[in-house]
Amino acid sequence: MDNGKKTTEISKNGINDFIKSIILSDPYTKETKEPFFVLDLGMVTSLMAIWKENLPTIRPFYAVKCNPNLSLLTHMETLGANFDCASQKEIELILSLGISPNRIIFANPCKPDTHIRYASKTGVTRTTFDSVYEVEKIKKNYPDGNCQLLIRVKPIHDYGSARCPLGAKYGALPNEVEPLLKAAKLSGLDVVGVSFHIGSGDADCRSYHSAISAARDVFDTATKLGFPRMRVLNIGGGFTAGSQFIEAAEAVNFAIQTYFKDEPDLEIIAEPGRYFAEHPFTLAANVIGKRVRGELREYYINDGLYGSFNCIQYDHAVITVKAFMVESDPENVNGFGSMTYGSTVFGPTCDALDTVVEGYELPEMEIGDWMVFPNIGAYSSASGSNFNGFKGVGLSTHLVYSKGG
Ligand SMILES: *Cc1c(COP(=O)(O)O)cnc(C)c1O
Repeated sequence: MDNGKKTTEISKNGINDFIKSIILSDPYTKETKEPFFVLDLGMVTSLMAIWKENLPTIRPFYAVKCNPNLSLLTHMETLGANFDCASQKEIELILSLGISPNRIIFANPCKPDTHIRYASKTGVTRTTFDSVYEVEKIKKNYPDGNCQLLIRVKPIHDYGSARCPLGAKYGALPNEVEPLLKAAKLSGLDVVGVSFHIGSGDADCRSYHSAISAARDVFDTATKLGFPRMRVLNIGGGFTAGSQFIEAAEAVNFAIQTYFKDEPDLEIIAEPGRYFAEHPFTLAANVIGKRVRGELREYYINDGLYGSFNCIQYDHAVITVKAFMVESDPENVNGFGSMTYGSTVFGPTCDALDTVVEGYELPEMEIGDWMVFPNIGAYSSASGSNFNGFKGVGLSTHLVYSKGG
């Protein structure tokens, strides 16, 4: 559910006041105490500006799976982003926003027949592959052959620093490239370029460098085989916002200069998900239970590992908690200067795994207070469930637009 439409302008540090106003005066939240998200579209705008400044020649195709929030998608569209979809439903979603199919890449190397048929029918022409079986499926489901393929290759070096490595699942190995290009050619399909993904949240810039170098080899293989010159390089996702992004962008630019400087017509694209979605979302959840054991404080909140915090399990997210004591200390909701206790925060379901943080220093909080979790937009609301009857999907999202940051 999206509260949509209404966007509140706030100052750069105005999110505390905004959250307080929702807790104290939004009728639905006052009644239900349900957790809710705040999405800062101003931050999304800044992230795009930083992207364009550091990767001016690389067009982002936002990876919808990371967070398909409608307000985020439409805002990304107005900022000029294109979209990476992995399934029929994601394509339907983007098309339903009135976005043209030529702004979509169907970047899933292994797609169900029915989804390929849908893409073909709706005019989504760009897709990826990494097996001969996929070539056959694409051939069959694009009867007019009106598609442009990118061969997905596996980054050879794994520096072991990705938060979510993609391991064995996707990408052709170097010795598989030539047979795959030949198979596509034999089927009359156009392979226009190369695509890779170094793994999500990769902190090691060398990953981009070695993958771009490997992509160069694939371009050369196509030339050697006498196939049409490749013209698209897709460097995938993996970026994290902040200083890490600046370093990654430098590595990408340097590698492109090194390996692709003689390709003036090259189109370079990327598929960032986490970079755009992680920081702009903040979650607020309500304290519904408490226990004191000596110095230890234990709290139960109404969102957890099976809801928005599934990113702890699947995305190895590290969670930041801010006390928000609207009940017990309304004059100092964050508890600045208060004594703190090592605290455990549990989610609401009856499963011991449902633990959000342990040993976290928090002031003494009471039932009815709130906790606030910044930077929680990547692979969180996208993949929650309503396990055990606790609402973990479809929470409200309130929109703000921060100025100057
Ligand atoms: C998940 C995914 C992305 C997005 O990755 P991030 O690490 O969130 O940037 C991009 N491309 C493909 C093919 C993906 O599967």
